Amino acid sequence: MKQKREDIRNVAIIAHVDHGKTTLVDELLKQSGVFRENQEVAERVMDSNDIERERGITILSKNTAVTYKNTKINIIDTPGHADFGGEVERVLKMVNGVILVVDAFEGAMPQTKFVLRKALELKLPVIVCINKIDRPEARPDEVIDEVLELFIDLEASEEQLDCPFVFASAKAGTASLDMDEPGTNMVPLFETILDYIPAPEGDPDAGTQVLISTIDYNEYVGRIGVGKVDNGSVKVNQEVMIVNHHEPDKMKKVKISKLYEFDGLNKVEIQEAGIGSIVAISGIADIHIGDTLCPVDNPAPIPFQKISEPTIAMHFIVNDSPLAGQEGKYVTSRHLRDRLFRELNTDVSLRVEETDTTESFKVSGRGELHLSVLIENMRREGYEFAVSKAEVLYKTDENGKKLEPMELCYIDVPEEFSGSIIEKLSQRKGELRSMGSASGGYTRLEFSIPARGLIGYRGEFMTDTKGNGIMNTVFDGYGPFKGEIQYRKQGSLIAFEAGEAITYGLYNAQERGTLFIGSGEKVYSGMVVGQNGRGEDIELNVCKKKQLTNTRSSSADEALRLTPPKVLSLEQALDFIDTDELLEVTPKSLRIRKKILD
Ligand code: GDP
Repeated sequence: MKQKREDIRNVAIIAHVDHGKTTLVDELLKQSGVFRENQEVAERVMDSNDIERERGITILSKNTAVTYKNTKINIIDTPGHADFGGEVERVLKMVNGVILVVDAFEGAMPQTKFVLRKALELKLPVIVCINKIDRPEARPDEVIDEVLELFIDLEASEEQLDCPFVFASAKAGTASLDMDEPGTNMVPLFETILDYIPAPEGDPDAGTQVLISTIDYNEYVGRIGVGKVDNGSVKVNQEVMIVNHHEPDKMKKVKISKLYEFDGLNKVEIQEAGIGSIVAISGIADIHIGDTLCPVDNPAPIPFQKISEPTIAMHFIVNDSPLAGQEGKYVTSRHLRDRLFRELNTDVSLRVEETDTTESFKVSGRGELHLSVLIENMRREGYEFAVSKAEVLYKTDENGKKLEPMELCYIDVPEEFSGSIIEKLSQRKGELRSMGSASGGYTRLEFSIPARGLIGYRGEFMTDTKGNGIMNTVFDGYGPFKGEIQYRKQGSLIAFEAGEAITYGLYNAQERGTLFIGSGEKVYSGMVVGQNGRGEDIELNVCKKKQLTNTRSSSADEALRLTPPKVLSLEQALDFIDTDELLEVTPKSLRIRKKILD
């Protein structure tokens, strides 16, 4: 018979970057007594990956557990951005409710919309935590209305609309149910979690059922499966069958050697766990996301959403340029291969294939962002390699017609930019689905657009909106091929290689009509891709120092003065490479190289 585990609550936390999720969880940890007096929360709980912070997204879900009034509250971070292959749904299946953290001034942001929609679809109750209530410009009244409007927009049920609002200042460590009373501690939030989030349910006497929702990887213990005990229990030394709903015939019998639960920021070893517990299991070498741990005599796997297929591919290539190895620690084909295959341990929506040559690997993933996060991680770890421009993976339907991956693209921009964004995206075969107003005088645009139309667009978007735009994309299935896109690049890229340092300047050749490439002492080589003032395509290839003089340019100093060099982001750089070019990725820089010049 089904029973409730009243001593457990499992919640996911959804927040836009900087709205205070980390501060809030730190505070819950401190106040729940996990930390003895005088012990600081040394490391921030969530968002530990630098890239996640910079890009305002969470890539890996992380678990934290706090104990309040003898109840263990497992708090699971949700990926805030694009869905890398059903991850959001798998994470949300471990919980019975969510906390939506919203800044009391900024209000709900479109980035949280995707995860929130999934939570509402899964019928999860939502606690709305309006944070930073201490800010002088806080406008909680309006934010409540905005959140409710968003709920209606996302087709929330009556019960979900009747959600509790908690007004918090995570910074001050206070929460209150009354927006005009600041509160004195986090108790109102703890109490709301206990009251409003249902305890997990399951049949303790049934056979074991644990669905593995995420995989952690640790060099010493290898793969660690994380999941919730849906039914029965798990014990150390227990023999279980590991079965995948989509591949039932590949089931395997294994013995559980190590079992953990979450406590504060750590995993602690335990001997046994019952229904509703979120556990981590190590020692099973080939445990995968979507596997169910079942009794040996009754292997009934839990169904789960099939992991979505990759839609985009890039080649990762050994860097054979004369400069290779000067900056990076890891440069060989072996290094590259091992690192890429290791990534498959934790990322189920990634594919890595070997090619005809040992120098190149085809890496496929869920969108350009997905792959660029991997590239950036490898670069920071000291890898040096080259990548080709991204290409989308086409399919054909049963009549042999070409299909291509489509994305829904949500954009928030200051009103004055909306016209040019609409124009740009229509050139890229985007269709405007809706247009409305967002908070702070921003305009909200929603497009349906082929994934290939978005390749390299992010960098251009940031330039066009002077860094003020917000863009979020969600895979929307395969649709009929929309025809060739005629790109008209407006910006030009000037790459200055000055001594050891390489900097890139973005220069709008169309506006000024003249191209500047330096020829002075400081500039060793340069490259411009783009259009000149008459709209003609111009490509100036990497030149040797002495050849630089044959441009309609002034000196390097003047070029640098007119176009202050700035370091390009990976997306901006990707935007400028064409199919016959490679982007060289090194720990210190990005270089664009023309293959034909090799
Ligand atoms: P996250 O990105 O959602 O994890 O946000 P953080 O917890 O890192 O907080 C982002 C910034 O907001 C930090 O500078 C915090 O100090 C600040 N912050 C967090 N909570 C509050 C709050 O309640 N009031 C104010 N005024 N600032 C806050």
